[in-house]
Amino acid sequence: MGQLMGFLNIEKKNQKERDPRKRIGDWNEYREAMPEKEVREQAARCMDCGTPYCQIGTVLNKGTSGCPIHNLIPEWNDLVYRGLWREAYDRLAKTNNFPEFTSKACPAPCEGSCTAGFVSDPVSIKSIERSIIDRAFAEGWVVPKPPLRRTDKKIAVIGSGPAGMACADQLNKIGHNVTVFERSDRAGGLLMYGIPSMKIEKDVVDRRVHLLEAEGVVFKTGVDIGKDITEEEIRKDFDAVVLCTGAGKHRDVSIEGRDLEGISPAMEYLTASNRHLLYGEPLKPDFDAKGKRVIVIGGGDTGEDCVATAIRQGCKSVVQFGKHGRLPENRSESNPWPENPHVFSVDYAYEEAEELFGTDPREYYVETKKFTGDASGHVRSLLTGSFKSEAEEEKKWDADLVLIAIGFQGAEDRLFEDFGIEKDPSGRVIQADDRSYQTSSEGVFAAGDARRGATLIVWAIEEGRKAAAAVDLYLDRKLSLLQN
Ligand SMILES: Cc1cc2nc3c(=O)[nH]c(=O)nc-3n(C[C@H](O)[C@H](O)[C@H](O)COP(=O)(O)OP(=O)(O)OC[C@H]3O[C@@H](n4cnc5c(N)ncnc54)[C@H](O)[C@@H]3O)c2cc1C
Ligand code: SF4
Repeated sequence: MGQLMGFLNIEKKNQKERDPRKRIGDWNEYREAMPEKEVREQAARCMDCGTPYCQIGTVLNKGTSGCPIHNLIPEWNDLVYRGLWREAYDRLAKTNNFPEFTSKACPAPCEGSCTAGFVSDPVSIKSIERSIIDRAFAEGWVVPKPPLRRTDKKIAVIGSGPAGMACADQLNKIGHNVTVFERSDRAGGLLMYGIPSMKIEKDVVDRRVHLLEAEGVVFKTGVDIGKDITEEEIRKDFDAVVLCTGAGKHRDVSIEGRDLEGISPAMEYLTASNRHLLYGEPLKPDFDAKGKRVIVIGGGDTGEDCVATAIRQGCKSVVQFGKHGRLPENRSESNPWPENPHVFSVDYAYEEAEELFGTDPREYYVETKKFTGDASGHVRSLLTGSFKSEAEEEKKWDADLVLIAIGFQGAEDRLFEDFGIEKDPSGRVIQADDRSYQTSSEGVFAAGDARRGATLIVWAIEEGRKAAAAVDLYLDRKLSLLQN
């Protein structure tokens, strides 16, 4: 246990963030690691409360409460407090395949349900996790550990995001032969081409892919399963298949003027920006915010990443429309601990916009009704109403670039259809359940955003781990049926 009364005597601190004025001039990570003395002090705030809600990892009232991968948080907090970094890393690695991703970009539902947070500020769990994994890499403790023995089983994992990578890692550790197929030219899924480098720098993703390769996982990029390799070929060559293809179907708005130039889905914009930074690929004018008045439709995290990207590209102004109202400063009665707190916060992109333009870019309850363009067919303005009240007047907003970030509709159907997975009467794919992870098609499993719907890196890791365990059980059962 940390220091007696630590959570009352020591003030909560998080990792520092770089000065917004400076960081908008580059694409590097916006957070900084915490100095060792401070991390150990922060770890001392953990009281080993006995019932660590921080690790429950469940869904309460539609939100995530506690760590979905059940990180052994109080244990590593205590080890960090005592300066036992290697032991802390060993504990962390037991449950988390990729702490270098979660400790940078996880929204930390663990902190929302930390018991200290019931009466005071929660423990800075994410910052402590970050220090452990940074230290582990710096000390050279994270090295390839190939399995000692190989089985004769071959598994195809389709999709190389955090779910596919975690699934491959777990299956490879057991000794199975795993090939990860990825249709993009680079592995990592949304970690590579969706999430901006200000949150996760791309060499961090490459480093983990290289570690997995050194442990024996085979990555085949630039291969679109269903097109370049058929479902029959995959079934013939592999003993089991795991679909970790993400929730690539994005939502769109179907209103007047949608087909004007200068209106793009957020994911196309973010992918183009990441590719431009990685390879110097020229940005199409619709993906370059320089000198433009930008409007982002959608109040979520993807929209926030668009705001931060547009700022770095040198936009003239930026506004983000949200469907819902401003969150309260404190938990409401209908959102008690240990639920994930739905409270107002000023995240990185909003802090940057305030610093640059003097105002928070978020506008609430905004319903976009119509886009209007100029004579050349390019968007120039939006007409909006209010989701809150029909009585509110319509408003016109000038815009040269509009980004649509209103969420995702789940996995693309094509591959699920190819594998003959059943659909419900409304035409939706019947997903694998969350115990067996197996779809209605023999030997075909699904995990991550493709199964669960768009969610978080930490859930994708959890899904990948559980699907791997389910595949191993399936292969084991198949073997015993053959032997009996
Ligand atoms: C802009 C943005 C920002 C986000 N920020 C955060 C954040 O800060 N924190 C957080 O926790 N979560 C964040 N998320 C969510 C998080 O990225 C996802 O939940 C997570 O990446 C899902 O992992 P996955 O492995 O299931 O799918 P993905 O990461 O989507 O990977 C799926 C992969 O499958 C590949 N694929 C699809 N079809 C085929 C095929 N037929 N053949 C071969 N390959 C195929 C795709 O190319 C893709 O690479 C963000 C999401 C977005 C869009
Ligand atoms: S993975 Fe996320 S929820 Fe789990 S301990 Fe780390 S920050 Fe918290």
